[in-house]
Amino acid sequence: MKPASYEYHRAHDLEHALELLGELGEDAKPLAGGQSLVPMMNFRLARPSALIDLARLDELRYLRPVGDGLRIGALTTHRTVETATLPGGFGVLSRAARWIGHYPIRSRGTIGGSLAHGDATAEWCVLAVLLDARIVLRGPRGQRTVPAAEFFHGFLSTAAEPGELITEVVFPSPAPRAALTEFAQRQGDFGLVVVAVALETEGGHCRAARVAAGGVGSAAQRLPAVEQALAGAELTERAFAEAARAGVAELEPPEDIHASAGYRRTLTATLLRRACLEAGA
Ligand SMILES: Cc1cc2nc3c(=O)[nH]c(=O)nc-3n(C[C@H](O)[C@H](O)[C@H](O)COP(=O)(O)OP(=O)(O)OC[C@H]3O[C@@H](n4cnc5c(N)ncnc54)[C@H](O)[C@@H]3O)c2cc1C
Repeated sequence: MKPASYEYHRAHDLEHALELLGELGEDAKPLAGGQSLVPMMNFRLARPSALIDLARLDELRYLRPVGDGLRIGALTTHRTVETATLPGGFGVLSRAARWIGHYPIRSRGTIGGSLAHGDATAEWCVLAVLLDARIVLRGPRGQRTVPAAEFFHGFLSTAAEPGELITEVVFPSPAPRAALTEFAQRQGDFGLVVVAVALETEGGHCRAARVAAGGVGSAAQRLPAVEQALAGAELTERAFAEAARAGVAELEPPEDIHASAGYRRTLTATLLRRACLEAGA
């Protein structure tokens, strides 16, 4: 398939990109790694009138500590996060990046593009929700910051307004006992279900747990019932399995040609057990 015709503009810096977005109007789209947008254009699921190429915005490629946290520029590739030496407690980001697509996709695709695309099973979306990340946007009315919990509105829909660009994502605090795991039908595919957990432990028990998942609703989301079931659980496979089973009982995941709701629910419990074992080890 070939895309419908479009104008191509190359921004030379962030101000220029914002200016072009304003001038070219709502039908123009920023192009980051192109790993979601270009396939969608080829299938004519997206027909932007113009593309604004962000490739020269080197100012948005960085990983920087901020206090206890970590700031990641929007144009940082998945591969850069995968291979970076990150500050203590952020290793889950590198480990999670390995699950994204194939090597060429990780080499071109960006964290900002992934968050803007907002796929429910995108690893960055699930981790942003898990770790209370803040998404920083620049647009015609200046800069604003949106907590990940309010950013993902539903199927490929986010809080970003027309004319706004994601400039960075901030992970505010380390999560030394965190893990992400998933199951995809073929290596490199988006996961059917993706789960991530961050545990706080004390004396062989889980004091508190944060749990997020993709593939169980229209956007990446926290799973409060699982978090409650895990609080106080022993750090054993059996206790994790019981908490996961109890916690997913009320979930109503979507059904599609790939999996029934029941299959996704069972898969979520299995992945939760595995993620807890990895995080609690
Ligand atoms: C075969 C295949 C397998 C894949 N598997 C996975 C996977 O397992 N997990 C996963 O998470 N992803 C997967 N992806 C998608 C990949 O991670 C993309 O890189 C990512 O979804 C989008 O990032 P991008 O930089 O390529 O953005 P683009 O494709 O360039 O853009 C995506 C969307 O975001 C907008 N956009 C881009 N940057 C910004 C910005 N800074 N501010 C505002 N809007 C912006 C664009 O206008 C567009 O609407 C896969 C892709 C393919 C082709």
